[in-house]
Amino acid sequence: MLLKTLREEVLEANLELVRRGLVLYTFGNVSGIDRNEGLVAIKPSGVAYDELTAAHIVVCDLEGTIVEGKLRPSSDLPTHVELYKYFPNIGGVAHTHSEFATAWAQAETPIPCFGTTHADYFHGEVPVTDRLGPGEIAGDYELETGKAICRTFAKLDPDAIPAVLVAGHAPFCWGPSAAAAAHNAVVLEYVAKMAYHTLVINAESRPIGRELHDKHFLRKHGRNAYYGQVKTQ
Ligand SMILES: [Zn+2]
Repeated sequence: MLLKTLREEVLEANLELVRRGLVLYTFGNVSGIDRNEGLVAIKPSGVAYDELTAAHIVVCDLEGTIVEGKLRPSSDLPTHVELYKYFPNIGGVAHTHSEFATAWAQAETPIPCFGTTHADYFHGEVPVTDRLGPGEIAGDYELETGKAICRTFAKLDPDAIPAVLVAGHAPFCWGPSAAAAAHNAVVLEYVAKMAYHTLVINAESRPIGRELHDKHFLRKHGRNAYYGQVKTQ
């Protein structure tokens, strides 16, 4: 079996979304990439999670052509591939229609950073894409969704904000691996839910200041990170 380890990682990341309550029925998909081979492993389209095995995971190249697998890949594959092409450091992409993050996407409202939980993961508000135009929707819709995400990040760092809300649709998240992408999707949903509750309690709530935001993000990420245990390679 081609890319057995990557397939197993992708399978596990997809199942993590189910365990955390982020997906209904067959909604959602996670992929991972082998940068050396230039191959993407992704959940097949429309297969129930409780039947999903590593053998079902579809392996495609960066043109979207199936290299190994009997099933059709997730229809969102072109969005995933576009992100892999333009975000060079990412190793995994996760897409869900999780309730609160999707509500923010439908409201076309960026998620403000109201607290340190958000700041630990997202160095800035979680942005929203522009709406797709009629020609983009009628054309290569999933590819255009990927392009809209990349345009949103023209002046943002995808490694510092590993999530986006696609207007009128739902979130896409990413990370260094498929597991990290799924983890970020779970955290995004939690942050989206807390931001909603924050505004319900006080509609005048304001984002935290830059100092606290930077402190929390930078102590976990980047060259001077000191949160957690020292990593031994
Ligand atoms: Zn979707």
